[in-house]
Amino acid sequence: MRFDTHVHLCDKQFDKDRAQCIAQADRVLECAVSLENAGQVLRFAAQYKSVYAAVGIHPSYCPSGEHITAELDRLAVLVQHPYCTAIGEIGLDKRADQPEFLLQQRLFAEQLDIAAMYRKPVSIHCVRASGPLCDILRSRECGRGFIHGFSMSKETARLCMDKGYLLGVGTVAAYTNGDRLRDVLRYIPKDRVVLETDSPYMPPELQRGMRNVPDNLKIPAQVLAELWNCEIQQVYAVTYTNACTALGIV
Ligand SMILES: [Zn+2]
Repeated sequence: MRFDTHVHLCDKQFDKDRAQCIAQADRVLECAVSLENAGQVLRFAAQYKSVYAAVGIHPSYCPSGEHITAELDRLAVLVQHPYCTAIGEIGLDKRADQPEFLLQQRLFAEQLDIAAMYRKPVSIHCVRASGPLCDILRSRECGRGFIHGFSMSKETARLCMDKGYLLGVGTVAAYTNGDRLRDVLRYIPKDRVVLETDSPYMPPELQRGMRNVPDNLKIPAQVLAELWNCEIQQVYAVTYTNACTALGIV
């Protein structure tokens, strides 16, 4: 059983073969990036039995200061939708072209508070912001959910796990320059890991510029099978159970 815990299959790159791509995994968590996208994600989950919905505001879509409160109020309503399983994609992104970081921090922290209030798991995006991520997680009660596309240090992994989160492992784990990440993954207990592709983003190393698909879940699964010295089927089984437990689904 394969659970792809982070996908964007509503993307127009899947307009021609969406159903086939969904069927490449047994279950997927479809993550919204904005409130506009969230409506689409909820309809998508209603349409396909194997699709679970996460609604949230991605840091790249951080609204301007005067609009944050209104957007968070709208999010708190969407979160109560019967097809909303999780809150995501939320987080921090310190790349140069991103919205003002202070606003991102506020948006992220307040979405974590909404998740706590409605007892929802989260899917967290973090790029070049592990320090601020750790500060925000440390200042809050334990949560539940995933650190998506984990590629940070062993210390950050420890803190995220202590705070209740599982680490999402994607195609980057197989990149030739991924030795440091593979070394971190070696020390992560098996019950703290889930698989993801982030389709259509993060394609395998030799397919740069092409779209990623859920079938590529086999790539991080193979990396874990080698690290754990077990069959790939066992990796699928363990990570599937981990994902279902974190999301509170049977
Ligand atoms: Zn994503």
